[in-house]
Amino acid sequence: MSKKIAVFPGSFDPITLGHIDLVERSVDLFDEIIVAIGINSSKKGLYSLEKRLEWLDVVFKKYSNVRVAHFEGLTVNFCKEQKAGFLLRGLRNASDFDYEKTISQLNHIIGDGLETTFLISKPEYSHVSSTIVREIIKGGGDVSSFVPEFIAQEIEI
Ligand code: ADP
Repeated sequence: MSKKIAVFPGSFDPITLGHIDLVERSVDLFDEIIVAIGINSSKKGLYSLEKRLEWLDVVFKKYSNVRVAHFEGLTVNFCKEQKAGFLLRGLRNASDFDYEKTISQLNHIIGDGLETTFLISKPEYSHVSSTIVREIIKGGGDVSSFVPEFIAQEIEI
């Protein structure tokens, strides 16, 4: 049987406890998980690609089957390159579902059968998004409930 490889794509700007929970719950479901930052050239992130990758490295180094990467262009092309048959995504609410359903159906077609697997967010993380975290940071608020401790400390400095 071929290796079950999943790509977990996102902007991770910054990575949140919601993202981490999703990966932790998936490590036994796949042989390998590639947490990959998709670079959108028309959208400048709050944090640099290097910083986001550094944070992902620290967070996931304890998992032997989790790898960190980044890519430009279509997610399906990156999956093909990596020989990944699965995408991993999280669902927090009905708007996530509406958006993800369309993308998943498109990716199944243009990705030659690429399957998207969804995990429903834990209730304690369903209100957490990188977008909200960025807004709190810009407003000078405390994000220690939403991101790992070491990231919250780095952000505060
Ligand atoms: P966000 O949507 O938070 O700005 P990303 O674009 O990096 O962040 O999202 C990548 C993936 O992570 C998406 O599938 C998204 O649904 C999932 N995700 C983000 N936050 C959470 C959370 N709190 N719980 C579960 N899944 C999440």
